[in-house]
Amino acid sequence: MIPLARRLTAVCALGAALTACGTAGPTGTAHPAKSSASSSPSPARPPVLAPGPGGLTPVFEHGPRTRGKTVALTFDADMTADEGRRAASGEHFDNPGLIAALRSLKVPATVFMTGRWADQYPAEARSLGHEAQFEVANHSYSHYAFTEDCYGLPTVGADRMRSDVERAYTSLRKAGVPRPMPYFRFPGGCYDQQALRALSGLGVTAVQWDVVSGDAFATDADAVVRQVLDGVKPGSVVVMHCTRSAAPTTERVVRSVVPELRKRGYRFVKVSELIGESGGNR
Ligand SMILES: [Zn+2]
Repeated sequence: MIPLARRLTAVCALGAALTACGTAGPTGTAHPAKSSASSSPSPARPPVLAPGPGGLTPVFEHGPRTRGKTVALTFDADMTADEGRRAASGEHFDNPGLIAALRSLKVPATVFMTGRWADQYPAEARSLGHEAQFEVANHSYSHYAFTEDCYGLPTVGADRMRSDVERAYTSLRKAGVPRPMPYFRFPGGCYDQQALRALSGLGVTAVQWDVVSGDAFATDADAVVRQVLDGVKPGSVVVMHCTRSAAPTTERVVRSVVPELRKRGYRFVKVSELIGESGGNR
């Protein structure tokens, strides 16, 4: 077993969050709101949460607990800005087997993709972006942290936060994702008021989670399965990873967790549906 400190450092160097990191920020209240992140006037504009006071970026952690057994599996497609050399030498930051499993199991899912990942795997990004089963959201361009002390991740300065998110949207669109969602997941899940303020006006809802799968660097798929099954409640958002090198068991975990949760009466949904049920405006 990897010592905890080393494990956390390693995990976060690759952008995963093993434990809830960052501050327990305000959960966005659900009032009608309009997104300004979408550039196309689609009639099916995704629901977003209303901004907080002063336009503060709202934060979503989970859906309603009392409106049926729904659960959203989310997958962070991590790749840090400086990992191109590792990818070139054969390290796999993607996970086609996982995506194939989600397809064959017909599980709707939300993928939080870094711009750097989309640059590296444009065909995969494009295909995810064109399938109704999936929604592709923003996980920053560089996968640098938006706060200090976020598991050893390099930090993006406050004056660069907004442009880093915008750059990710540019990469996603360039890869062929036609309508990336107005949802943003902070690298490592780390954020504070300054970070929420920096992203004000972008029209994004920050999406956290209430269930940590523990798939990052896990070697024991069964332990991850147990952690997910123990944690899921109605409306839960589960954080997992779509990065073979950092989360090698995730496909196996999904193949176990999905049938079991279905047996327990759960229905899989995308994050947008949970936000919509929370009162986000469509
Ligand atoms: Zn990440």
